[in-house]
Order: sequence, then C-alpha cells, then structure tokens
Amino acid sequence: MTTDALLGPAQIRDLAGRLGVRPTKSLGQNFVVDAGTVRRIVRIAQVTPGERVVEIGPGLGSLTLGLLDAGADVLAVEIDPVLAEQLPLTVAERAPDLAGRLTVLTADALTLTALPGPPPTALVANLPYNVAVPVLLSFLARFDSLERVLVMVQAEVADRLVAPPGSRTYGIPSAKAAWYASARSAGSIGRAVFWPVPRVDSSLVALERRDPPPTTATRQEVFAVVDAAFAQRRKMLRSALAGVAGSGAAAAAALVAAGVDPTSRGERLDIAAFARIAEQLHR
Ligand code: SAM
Repeated sequence: MTTDALLGPAQIRDLAGRLGVRPTKSLGQNFVVDAGTVRRIVRIAQVTPGERVVEIGPGLGSLTLGLLDAGADVLAVEIDPVLAEQLPLTVAERAPDLAGRLTVLTADALTLTALPGPPPTALVANLPYNVAVPVLLSFLARFDSLERVLVMVQAEVADRLVAPPGSRTYGIPSAKAAWYASARSAGSIGRAVFWPVPRVDSSLVALERRDPPPTTATRQEVFAVVDAAFAQRRKMLRSALAGVAGSGAAAAAALVAAGVDPTSRGERLDIAAFARIAEQLHR
C-alpha cells in the first residue's frame, strides 16, 4: 500500500493555495480531505487491480489517488481546466509509480458521448451535487460497459435513487435508475470530511447493472411515461397520462391492457409496469 500518497487536510490546503483554487458552488466543488473516507469508498467500490474505472470530477485528486492505489486504471473526467491540468502533476509527485495508469480528460461529463481507451467497467465518483442525477443517468445510458457504480451524492438524492415504489421518496430518479440497475444505499458520510464543509449530508449509493425489463417500447418511450406520471404526482394515472396517450380514455385503456389500475398513482409503479404501459401506448 502506498496510502501515504493520499491527500489530507494539509495537502489539500497546500495544493489549493498553490493553484489559487477557490472552490465554486456552481461546480459543486467540495473536496474530500480525509484519507480514511477515500479508503472506505475504494473498499466499498471493490475495485480490482487492472480494472478500468471512470471517475467523474476528480477535483484535487483525493479519490483518484485511492483508486490508483487499489490498482485501477483511472480515466478521470474533470470540467475545471485548472484542476484537470494539475491532476497528473499531483499523481506524479505523490505516487510516481501509479502515474502511468491515469488518463485525464478535460470535459463536461454531462455532454460526453465517447470515452478514450478501454471501456470502463466501473464508475466511482464523488459527484458534483448539482448535476449528480443527470450525470449518473447519462453515463449509464451512454456507456454500457459500466457494470458497477459507486457514487457519493447528497443524502436526499441518495434516498431517491434507492427508494422502492410506494415509498415517500420514490420518483423519477428512482424509476429511471431502476431501468439500468439495482441500487442500494452504501453508507453515509459526515460533513467534516470535506473542504469546504457542505450544508448538506452525503451518502454513498452502489448500483449494479442489470437488464432492463423486457418490453417492445424504447427507453425514451418508457421514460416519457415516467416523466408524465410524476409531473402530476397527485393525479390518478389515467389523468396524468392523458397527454402522452392523446386522451384520458386512451390512457385508461392502455393502463388496463398493461394490468395497471387506472385510478392508481405513478408512485406505486415499478419500472416494469411503466414499461408495460409504454408498450401499450406504442403498439
Ligand atoms: N473527487 C473530488 C473529491 O472527492 O475530493 C472532488 C469532488 S467535487 C464534489 C466535484 C468535482 O466535479 C469538482 O472537481 C468539479 O470541478 C467537478 N465537476 C463539476 N461539474 C462537472 C461536470 N459537469 N463534468 C465533470 N466534472 C465536473
């Protein structure tokens, strides 16, 4: 183990000072300053030596160093050019033996459509909180080599991602994530491990890719039904889906054919039921 290479509060302060980094809220820049937290994330992610891992938002490199130390080949996608330029230098300085296994891409993870090098099998990241759900869903949609995900997100977002149908926090992120993967809560993270200290709590979410429910409807068609059902959460499905179906009567007919009670609400349905409804609407 070369865990001495991991960054602590003094190293983060020093790096940020040298670079003139002033963390911005708009980019969700809260950096992990605790090596124990990094080790915990890497352990839960079950990264194997030689595995290709994509990290979104490496920042000053706290987690990147931990992933490299576990033997991963890391592709790090960072939007902030100052941080992206510094990252290879930080790794070369702190863990020169590991530097050859790092690739840094200066890019917006939201708009990225291709990744250089071997396809990654795992996504491990402390995600920028303001774009966590769209970044996660777009990576699952675009990069089907990803089999496992471990992300740190705002605790509230984590609750939504892992919520089962019928629970208070079940909604669009839960249903859409369930199209790609099974999601489970993988622990909470205290605020004190970040600089600057965020105003929200954080949690880890682990996702494991699985096949989507069998259906002739496309993912876009299924997601349109999910969006419509939750846009009017309090409405019965036959009303909430009137727009996508063309009329309330057409929505009711599709719901019955899909085996769903037209008077029920979207928050009760799992992704397989949304897929059956979309299939009926697009026959
Ligand atoms: N991984 C680092 C850590 O744990 O200390 C930093 C995590 S910080 C919560 C989020 C990082 O994501 C920042 O470095 C920020 O610049 C970067 N970021 C924000 N929006 C991004 C985007 N759309 N694409 C790629 N990186 C982004």
